[in-house]
Amino acid sequence: MADMIPIVCSYCGVGCNLELVLNEKGEPEKTIASGRNPDLNGKYLCVKGATLHEMIGSQDRLVQPLLRKADRLEAVSWDEALEAAAVRLQEIKKRHGPESVGMLCSGKILNEAAYLSQKFQRMVIGSNNVDNCARLCHGPSEVALRKQLGFGAVSTFLEDFALMETVIVVGAHTSATYPVIWMKLMHRAKEGQINLILADPRATDLVGFAKVSLHPRPGTDLHWINALAKIMYDKGYHDELFCKQHTIGYQAYVNSLEQFDIDAACRLSGVLRQDLEQVAGLIHGRKTVFIWGMGLTQHAYGTDNVTALVNLALLTGNIGKPGCGVSPLRGQNNVQGAGDMGALPNVLPGQMHLGEEASRLHIGGIWNSILPEKPGLSAPEMIHAIAEGKIRALYVIGENPGMSEPQSTFVAWMLQRLDLLIIQDIFPTNTAHCADIVFPAKTVGEEEGTFTNAARRVQFTSKGVNAKGEARPDWWILQEIARRMGYDWEYGSSHDIWEEIRQVAPIFAGITHERLKTSHGIFWPCYDEAHTGTPRLYENGFAFRDQRARFIPVRLPEQIIEATPDYPYVLITGRIIEHFNTGEMSRRSAKLLRIVSESYVEMHPADAQKEGLSQGDWVRIISPFGAVEALFKVSESVLPGYLFAPNHFDRPNFNALMSSVPLDPQARMPALKVVPVKIVKQAGR
Ligand code: SF4
Repeated sequence: MADMIPIVCSYCGVGCNLELVLNEKGEPEKTIASGRNPDLNGKYLCVKGATLHEMIGSQDRLVQPLLRKADRLEAVSWDEALEAAAVRLQEIKKRHGPESVGMLCSGKILNEAAYLSQKFQRMVIGSNNVDNCARLCHGPSEVALRKQLGFGAVSTFLEDFALMETVIVVGAHTSATYPVIWMKLMHRAKEGQINLILADPRATDLVGFAKVSLHPRPGTDLHWINALAKIMYDKGYHDELFCKQHTIGYQAYVNSLEQFDIDAACRLSGVLRQDLEQVAGLIHGRKTVFIWGMGLTQHAYGTDNVTALVNLALLTGNIGKPGCGVSPLRGQNNVQGAGDMGALPNVLPGQMHLGEEASRLHIGGIWNSILPEKPGLSAPEMIHAIAEGKIRALYVIGENPGMSEPQSTFVAWMLQRLDLLIIQDIFPTNTAHCADIVFPAKTVGEEEGTFTNAARRVQFTSKGVNAKGEARPDWWILQEIARRMGYDWEYGSSHDIWEEIRQVAPIFAGITHERLKTSHGIFWPCYDEAHTGTPRLYENGFAFRDQRARFIPVRLPEQIIEATPDYPYVLITGRIIEHFNTGEMSRRSAKLLRIVSESYVEMHPADAQKEGLSQGDWVRIISPFGAVEALFKVSESVLPGYLFAPNHFDRPNFNALMSSVPLDPQARMPALKVVPVKIVKQAGR
């Protein structure tokens, strides 16, 4: 029988349990779901997961360290590359200070590697300039949930999806982004077991299953969510007892709703009042889960959007009980884990706050080090700080800011201005082409350790595939540079690092590699080895000293992004099922490329006719911040006045059209979701 390596999928936050089937040479030749975790995906997997073996075995993998010499990246020995990285980081730190170095950490590397990344930045470099890819997707969810409920994480997930009676899905095309979860929701909606309420500017394939489908104008979520909250409050559909017993700020929130004009909000958002009244009736007295995606978060006021939805969940008493909860659909397979490990500029491992002296002292005691106090820069702020000469070196692990950040031409220019750019990855990304040093890293199946899925479920992923070329584990590379910079780290495996994480972060104290290997994963918090974990948060109070959740009134944004006479359409970017993030992994699968091989932009047929455009035309899309050319398609799912484009391709990269300012003042995230554009037919390719 062929060897099978049990792994966790390295694409999305569902964290499906899969098996890599190896051929006689020990190479991965198939990916299957054997059903070993019936609590999660069972025998289901999506098209991306089914092609993981192609990505792992791709001929494009980085196989040797590279060092820039005379303006070319040349293959060198590990020793030469590690020494160069250590010497140059040390020089920059000495000349410009620890604040001049930044670290971008991946949401797809192991927890153990993410933990060591932030330890490297805080201890070896000496600043908190560390961030991860959540900044561009669910940074606002982390901030709002931490402020209002105590933990920057989902309160519940699948465990309550089976018990809920109503589910409201905001700005999340779940059949494309969370296909395995969508199958479970779809089944219950089809059987009439749940009331599915959708809020999405697009008429996606989900609409046919919904009781109510709202199509708010992009950027107006605060308007319709607050209008819904006021309708529920005015009708007496709220849970007064829950609000009084388990929250603070309730009266201030109610006062903020008092002057709220429901009809004006409906007019502006394009949502009908009668639809909101129907939604209110479907939530009233029913166990409700609130799910959201990047349609809610990727705005310059994304944190306020999430806060408004969490306020609504609190108002209706729908958190911390069976069948209820709040569930942001986190993007990458370990983006929850990267934040939990402290790869954030203001958060320490284990969801501890950088601002709390006791937390800094606790961790500093274990590290035998003094942790820097000053909060670090977020990823977009680091890019801007390059322009000001404040960031001189960037160490990028498993991230592709040259494509993922807004205004990518500006970002590429900034990356070239750095004194030192270190890239540690599995593929030569767009960003790697600007690098001074490139380290080839191992990937899933080649290295063992833990991932934490979007539901806070910590899972073990095994190794067994021979790594490509000279690729090494991420944690090993970090340790080797740290040693050369004078720190005698002596981790022999990811197990050693996990044991330290358990010591540092009480929420992981009861989770061991051994327990994970013989279970279906364990949900944090898990405070000791007798603890079974916490699938549903806040059953015994919220994660504050007073155990009460916080209502936070939010003000409507002063401006929303909309079409103008010069830019008469609004472009919405998003995901498709066949590809993932910047496409560096999924575009390495021949099967996925056969299904979707290039980017495109979609428009409603009525608008296409007005513009004289037909399926298959070649068009130029121009925003105030950039221009790209793309294949044109007609689609009924895009409503008139809008365009839709997937953002997984480098040619064109639709993020080139987005603005890098303003940032959400709380989550420090750019508005990546929408931009006003014009469209012009091109002569052809
Ligand atoms: S991409 Fe997501 S849904 Fe698909 S197999 Fe991987 S974890 Fe599961």
